[in-house]
Amino acid sequence: MSETNKKLNPVTEAIRIQIPRTEEGEHSTPMYLTSSFTFNEAENMRAAFADEIDENIYSRFTNPNVDEFIQKMCVLEGAEAGYATATGMAVVFASIFALLKQGDHLICCSSVFGSTHTMVTKFLPRYGIEATLVDANDKDAWEKAVKPNSKMVYLETPTNPQLEIIDLEWAGNFAQQHNLILNVDNCFATPLLQKPIEYGADLVVHSATKWIDGQGRVLGGVVVGRKDLIHDIYLFSRNTGPSLSPFNAWVLSKSLETLDVRLQRHCENAIKVAEVLKQHKNVEWVKYPFLKDHPQHAIAKKQMKAGGGIVCFEVKGGIESGRKFLNSLKMLSMTANLGDTRSIASHPASTTHSKLTEQERLNVGITPGLIRISVGLEYVDDIIDDLNQALG
Ligand SMILES: *Cc1c(COP(=O)(O)O)cnc(C)c1O
Repeated sequence: MSETNKKLNPVTEAIRIQIPRTEEGEHSTPMYLTSSFTFNEAENMRAAFADEIDENIYSRFTNPNVDEFIQKMCVLEGAEAGYATATGMAVVFASIFALLKQGDHLICCSSVFGSTHTMVTKFLPRYGIEATLVDANDKDAWEKAVKPNSKMVYLETPTNPQLEIIDLEWAGNFAQQHNLILNVDNCFATPLLQKPIEYGADLVVHSATKWIDGQGRVLGGVVVGRKDLIHDIYLFSRNTGPSLSPFNAWVLSKSLETLDVRLQRHCENAIKVAEVLKQHKNVEWVKYPFLKDHPQHAIAKKQMKAGGGIVCFEVKGGIESGRKFLNSLKMLSMTANLGDTRSIASHPASTTHSKLTEQERLNVGITPGLIRISVGLEYVDDIIDDLNQALG
């Protein structure tokens, strides 16, 4: 890229960052579907393996398409470095297992993504890593959870699916005070609505499968943050193999070109959906970070540019009415994903969080009739009409 003194806006960078063009002069980035890269000199190959020169060797380590995607994510999040993986869970896994060892302690917010919850409670202990789950907004519990061997704080905000908001400024201070690595899953907000690094996060992880791809086509994960930590995650991953495929990286890099416009429309549609649901006689309650009655509305306003694309609500009448609602939908998809162009309705208690016990679910606010809507890019009145007719 040509040198320029003026700093471009990250939204522009997400469109304009591009790995160097080939001699063909192609306008858009080609796909580097190659497992390995060649060398003309044995000496160069030796130097590349010795990390003395920065060259691609093998796509499990690095690949130009993956690099381009990571560069864009770093600019969007305001991070020094990054690493990308095949799925969001692979990056959640790598960001924890690469940095913690036997005898270390992790403090994790209890309302995390279902698989993260399972990993932390069922798998971490097998490797001698202790974890304490704490209620997202019980600040005393966070303080009490700190032990001499505590090393990392892991949290999500907004949480999935309850949309609780954790004060990032507070979390940043807490982590710094206790000398803990702050690792934030920013999947629900994306860097365009919220930048955890500005509040002191050391690492930001994403399931790129969601809003970043935004069209329900590929899976991916990415972590960005402090260079030294990313280097450790890179070494761990380079040797354990969760690398992002060049094809998926190409799709995700292209998707970042439209993240800003997509997200604006998702958020506009979502708040309209939330307001309509709130008025409906068959709806018990609605939760959306930018509705005034959200319990952490003020914090959401402070740290987020908009409320995001997820709305959750409880259908009156519990589990049976919830099922009836889902079965009555004509347009919205019943599927496990979120962050798609197509609106999606899901039932966390019987799907993403089904591995938790009923009590564990209630502890994190997943009631039997809770419905999560990922509001898509369809014409908003069509989304609202479908919800209304299904609610009866
Ligand atoms: C989906 C999701 C993940 C896991 O990502 P995958 O790409 O499905 O592996 C992690 N965190 C959050 C908040 C998610 O929504």
